[in-house]
Amino acid sequence: MLHHRVYPANGKELAADLAHRGIRSPEVLRAMQAVPRETFVSAEYAGQAYADHPLPIASGQTISQPLMVAAMTELLRAQPGDKVLEIGTGSGYQAAVLAELGQVEVYTVEIIAELADTAIDRLRALGYSQVHVLRGDGYHGWPEHAPYNGIVVTAAAERTPPPLAEQLAEGGRLIIPLGAPHHLQTLWVFTRRGEKLDADEWGNVAFVPFKRAV
Ligand code: SAH
Repeated sequence: MLHHRVYPANGKELAADLAHRGIRSPEVLRAMQAVPRETFVSAEYAGQAYADHPLPIASGQTISQPLMVAAMTELLRAQPGDKVLEIGTGSGYQAAVLAELGQVEVYTVEIIAELADTAIDRLRALGYSQVHVLRGDGYHGWPEHAPYNGIVVTAAAERTPPPLAEQLAEGGRLIIPLGAPHHLQTLWVFTRRGEKLDADEWGNVAFVPFKRAV
């Protein structure tokens, strides 16, 4: 007998699924429920838009698995009035989830121009006016709007780019997967304490490689 996996069909079912899988924050679950994920994937994957796995987007990149997006958003602990920086806009989905937290200004940097342009159009069409997209190498962060209360990096680097650590506000949190490309990486949570960063290991993750502009 064939068993077809039944995927969550909408944001509400996705949020229920995520709650069962350990996401606790009501704000994060509400944000995950609110973002129309099917808008961020191509038509051929629309049927799997709310499935809890990554999906291909243009230029060989991926939209992260919803559980990963929710977990990283929860780790940021964003508060109303916060400024958050994301490196690796991709489809714009994570940025939209951050915007749904409400009263959070979201700055996001994407190195692949085609992805940045698509994300800009998509986020504008959905009315996410508090998301600001920059085409460029996120290694440098986005110094004009620093410091940030939270920084989330959605591509795996070998080590933390120093400009990102510098752009973190006091008490701010930097969520970043570190490790060798094409292997499992470790997701780290760094917290700015004066001149130092406190480091906390979250667990193993798999992200596409962090690239550098040439
Ligand atoms: N957050 C995305 C998932 C992105 S996948 C989403 O929600 O859809 C990782 C993205 O990081 C890719 O689009 C890749 O092009 C981008 N990226 C890799 N290195 C980068 C860099 N140095 N600066 C900015 N973006 C980068």
